[in-house]
Amino acid sequence: MGKTALITGSARGIGAAAALRLAEDGFDIALNDISEQSFENNDIIERITAKGVKCEKYIADVSDHEQCAELAKKVKADFGSIDALVNNAGITRDGLLLRMSEENYDDVIRINQKSVFNMTKHVGAVMLRQKSGRIVNLASVAGLYGNPGQMNYSASKGAVISMTKTAAKELGSRGITVNAVAPGFIKTPMTDKLTQEQRNAILAQIAMNRYGEPEEVAAVISFLCSDNASYVTGQVIEISGGLSM
Ligand code: NAD
Repeated sequence: MGKTALITGSARGIGAAAALRLAEDGFDIALNDISEQSFENNDIIERITAKGVKCEKYIADVSDHEQCAELAKKVKADFGSIDALVNNAGITRDGLLLRMSEENYDDVIRINQKSVFNMTKHVGAVMLRQKSGRIVNLASVAGLYGNPGQMNYSASKGAVISMTKTAAKELGSRGITVNAVAPGFIKTPMTDKLTQEQRNAILAQIAMNRYGEPEEVAAVISFLCSDNASYVTGQVIEISGGLSM
């Protein structure tokens, strides 16, 4: 295929599932995560190369503008092109508004929101020269509807949605599509942290009466990176089992 996908925060969870799925689609894969430890006791690289594509890992903090510039440069040099970018890295630091520290607010905005600016700018420059590219951002139902205990997270994901639309408008005429997915409750290490009471409350709102799997998010990311989505841009696709209806 000769195309490359760069997925941020892809050592585990939805990012790892997206990387595996895009490898099945034939993309060579550039993995990223914040530290070497993220890849320890982790067979993600072996599982991707077993699909017959090239795979490299890059350690970078996507909230750091300079590290993102370097990341985009290295991936372009190693693979020759960057055809798909999945802005997946993200964190939660939940807490009710009056108890939320300034640090927890700032960290979530920096890692979930500024990272999308950093990566879209630096990888977008590569895609502009190619006159083609696919960008998929990980938003959340919290960014669409708000969620108690997530003032920081819902703000960051709401921004990701508006950034998706702005980037789609800026880059569309150059053959680059930019879309977002908005997952509901997906079973990953991020949601493992929730209490049983919180899980039960969420489950009660889900029409399909079950949580989502990372692979179910990866399937929509795969579609948005495929030729089948050639005329889809600036959209937010909810993957929540009907959480919001
Ligand atoms: P996760 O915590 O399992 O994985 C996130 C990965 O990002 C980790 O490997 C982590 O090390 C990495 N990461 C964190 N900060 C980073 C940084 N600064 N630089 C590089 N990598 C960094 O989370 P997940 O559940 O797989 O979530 C993936 C994305 O999907 C996130 O953006 C999250 O907000 C979003 N999302 C998840 C759910 C869900 O229910 N799990 C729902 C909606 C949206």
